[in-house]
Amino acid sequence: MSTILVQVAVPVPLFELFDYALPADTQVPTAGCRVRVPFGSRELIGIVMQTRPFNSEENETDESFVTEHKIKSILEVIEFKPIIPATTLDLLIWAAGYYHYPLGEVLSAALPALLRQGRHLDLLTQYWRVAPDANSAELSRSPKQRKTFDILNLHDQRGAPESILILMGVERASLLLLEKRGLVESFMQPRELIKHPVNLAHMPLLANPEQQYAIDQIHAVLGRFQGVLLNGLTGSGKTEVYLQAMQPVLEAGQQVLVLVPEIGLTPQTINRFKARFHAEIVMLHSNMSDVARLQAWQAAYTGHANIVIGTRSAVFTPMPHLGLIIIDEEHDLSYKQQDTFRYHARDVALKRGFDQKCPVLLGSATPSLESLHLAAEKKLLHLHLNERAGNAEFARIHLIDLRNKKRENGLSQPLLDAIATRLKADEQVLVFLNRRGFAPVLLCDACGWQADCPRCDAHLTVHYTPRQHLHCHHCGYQSRLPTECPACKSVNLIPTGAGTARLEETLIGHFPDHPIIRVDRDTTSRVGSWDKIYQRANQTGAAILLGTQMLAKGHHFPNVTLVAIVDVDGGFLSVDFRAPERMAQLILQVAGRAGRGTKTGQVLIQTRYPENPLLLTLIRQGYGQFAQEMLQDRKSARLPPYRHAVLIRAESPNAEKTEAFLKAAIHAFKMGIEEYQQQTGQMISTPHDPNGLEIWGPIPAPMEKRAGVFRGHVLIQCAHRRLLHHLIEPWWPAMMHLPERRGIRASLDVDPMEL
Ligand code: ADP
Ligand code: ZN
Ligand code: ZN
Repeated sequence: MSTILVQVAVPVPLFELFDYALPADTQVPTAGCRVRVPFGSRELIGIVMQTRPFNSEENETDESFVTEHKIKSILEVIEFKPIIPATTLDLLIWAAGYYHYPLGEVLSAALPALLRQGRHLDLLTQYWRVAPDANSAELSRSPKQRKTFDILNLHDQRGAPESILILMGVERASLLLLEKRGLVESFMQPRELIKHPVNLAHMPLLANPEQQYAIDQIHAVLGRFQGVLLNGLTGSGKTEVYLQAMQPVLEAGQQVLVLVPEIGLTPQTINRFKARFHAEIVMLHSNMSDVARLQAWQAAYTGHANIVIGTRSAVFTPMPHLGLIIIDEEHDLSYKQQDTFRYHARDVALKRGFDQKCPVLLGSATPSLESLHLAAEKKLLHLHLNERAGNAEFARIHLIDLRNKKRENGLSQPLLDAIATRLKADEQVLVFLNRRGFAPVLLCDACGWQADCPRCDAHLTVHYTPRQHLHCHHCGYQSRLPTECPACKSVNLIPTGAGTARLEETLIGHFPDHPIIRVDRDTTSRVGSWDKIYQRANQTGAAILLGTQMLAKGHHFPNVTLVAIVDVDGGFLSVDFRAPERMAQLILQVAGRAGRGTKTGQVLIQTRYPENPLLLTLIRQGYGQFAQEMLQDRKSARLPPYRHAVLIRAESPNAEKTEAFLKAAIHAFKMGIEEYQQQTGQMISTPHDPNGLEIWGPIPAPMEKRAGVFRGHVLIQCAHRRLLHHLIEPWWPAMMHLPERRGIRASLDVDPMEL
């Protein structure tokens, strides 16, 4: 009998796969099944990649091979039906390759925590039902058991899964007691794929002609892969298009995956889907208990869930009958994972749609330049919604020139006047400032000293609540508010600039008779506080909503008629070439909060650069024209999306060591290029040839010191994605073993979204 070798992807930061021997008499697991294996001194849960019989042609007995190569045995095969089905496994293998991240970790991260820890999927499919000849008469003395029995009695002989019963308030202990008394019985059953027919809970709205055209176009590509960019301002009725686009998919018994930005997963979003369809709708996001997450995952995995709504990582959820993928706010940065496995959910979704032959619908009021570029190349179907759905009109945007204007904590007189007018008319105002705290800088009036974070290249923010302190928003460092300047002993320390807390104070001073509702991380950290804020915002009557980014996305404030953007200049002055795009997206996102009701809204933007051509293009000609100009700039500067980029990030407590590692990495990369040139006879190393390979660095990161470590970058850009990946593939795993790598945290960021 020959030994079976099982190749396993183990969740460790290594690029290798590992061979294990299958114990004799054990059934052979297929790819995608979990196994428990010894690894060093630990036991880990890995995923089977393939199995092969070990053939002992080299005159070696199986046994001696296994001992010689120190092959260890698998401890347990957890299941024989793949927990990662073939299509999902292929997607994850592709993603691990494309993002050059260790496969074992990628696979492990794609599973809900409980499965990652080795729990059997069957654990949650214990069913309970009332025993055939149960006599419940004597239960009257035990209310708990009575209640449990009654709940179970609502179900027929097919019983109910324990997980559902627990959600209904049943305690496991009561079930066990009832079982002892012979009143109920339990049985294990794989959760069957029960096809719920999906019904409309509510009639679709009568689509306007643009919406109808978009819906028809999407329906025409169902059943095959097609990327579609649905481009329409906030309030133009994109969500209605999603709902109508998915209807025939659901009616055909297929599943729909809806991805939303982290901040956009609001009860409002979910409710719109629930209000339209009688269907099993599950959610997947990081703010769920492990059990709830596993149940939702399982519903998707078995095909039981009709609609899966989730954040970034939901893109990897197995769905056997996937018929449509929708990505709302496709430009949102939260789709890109910013640490460890740095994938972009939009790009993974496009690949997934291609593999599973279904359309991928990308919706946005302000599409990413990447998607607009793909649309221009006809790789995405470009659909537009230019009208506001219903009767509302889009808000008008005006600039307030801040030069030579008196300001009070960042608020100019014209802005204060405009706010007063709206409040007097009993309307709501939204004031947006993407900076929390009281003041961003503490400045000594005598010598110019500023309070800086000892661990970062950054100023400390002044906070007065819940207590007075200085706070670093980059690393979390906190210290007491000094009473005198550490440099010159002056006591004239002046909080400079304004954060939301200070604006709140200023606004209270001006409008003492109106409610002011502040929304930022400091005010919404308590559970449930967001709901309260939201309820207040939905009441009619004059009020000021004041807040950061948290206010900008996903939420509807029907009574807001004026949106004031306090500061946009930072976004147009940043070193990151993507900053203007982000600022434009943010402006329009915030602007989209205004005038959703019947009254026309107005947007006022304060700036010290009222002649900034990009800003003028944006407000006069709209995002489309703005994006065209940005794309032209990117093209002439040879930047993404016209170049494919990878960013090597390295950090360590020692700036020289960080740099030494990056230099060694560049050196090795250049050797790889030379080798490639010798092998192919193709010259690729100059920026001006058609391959346009450029290596920038090592350069310090924009904030070089952060949380006590020194961070450096190398940026590699290339006109050809394939060539770039071809060069990286052997090179990056080898960088793990460079001597200079010791003590350095390094990562590779493919298609980086942030510098
Ligand atoms: P978006 O998702 O683009 O922000 P929504 O789909 O939320 O836009 O639509 C904005 C508002 O217009 C919602 O209140 C929605 O109910 C309404 N609406 C959308 N489409 C129509 C339509 N065809 N007829 C009437 N009202 C519509
Ligand atoms: Zn001083
Ligand atoms: Zn800091």
